[in-house]
Amino acid sequence: MYIGRIGLNGFKSFGGVHELPLEMGMVAIVGPNGSGKSNILDALKWTLGEGSPSRLRINRQSDLLFQGSASLPPAKEAEVSVLFRGDGMSTSISRRVQQDGTTAVFVDGVRRTLAELEEAKRRIHMEGDRFAFIGQGEVSEVIQQRPMARRMLLESLLGIDFYRKRRNESSDR
Ligand code: ATP
Ligand code: MG
Repeated sequence: MYIGRIGLNGFKSFGGVHELPLEMGMVAIVGPNGSGKSNILDALKWTLGEGSPSRLRINRQSDLLFQGSASLPPAKEAEVSVLFRGDGMSTSISRRVQQDGTTAVFVDGVRRTLAELEEAKRRIHMEGDRFAFIGQGEVSEVIQQRPMARRMLLESLLGIDFYRKRRNESSDR
């Protein structure tokens, strides 16, 4: 699975409609300070279900809406959609937020609950922590982690922590 496209509309610094087509493999997003690189990662996290304001670098949900600029009015609603491609199929996950902070999630255009989103993510192998975000300033933290903590992180990225949990559960009996 890889991300084939990210669509942003009125999200944070992205006023109006923006389409980011992405290629398979490694993608680098470059730009000057404050140009919106981290906002793209926030958009990805949020669409995949992140709700924690600090992890989205906001105080309240409505901070996700484009505030307006000299040439564009503030957004009344923000929407991000992410297209996952792979294995001859594709799945789109999108999320909207209104000015009052209410949000809605859609999987392939159908409105879903956050629990149903987790199920959809499992189907495309994007569940849990497998989609890893290492934030600005966190790289040195990962390098300095104790071996066991780093092993846990790698196991969860590779999706094999599941087997450890299963083994631990069976040896508890
Ligand atoms: P750096 O290289 O410093 O990490 P960056 O490219 O990651 O920069 P971001 O943090 O993604 O930059 O973007 C910060 C910019 O986004 C700031 O200029 C901020 O004003 C703007 N921004 C954040 N939220 C909103 C919003 N709701 N409406 C408009 N602009 C916003
Ligand atoms: Mg940044």
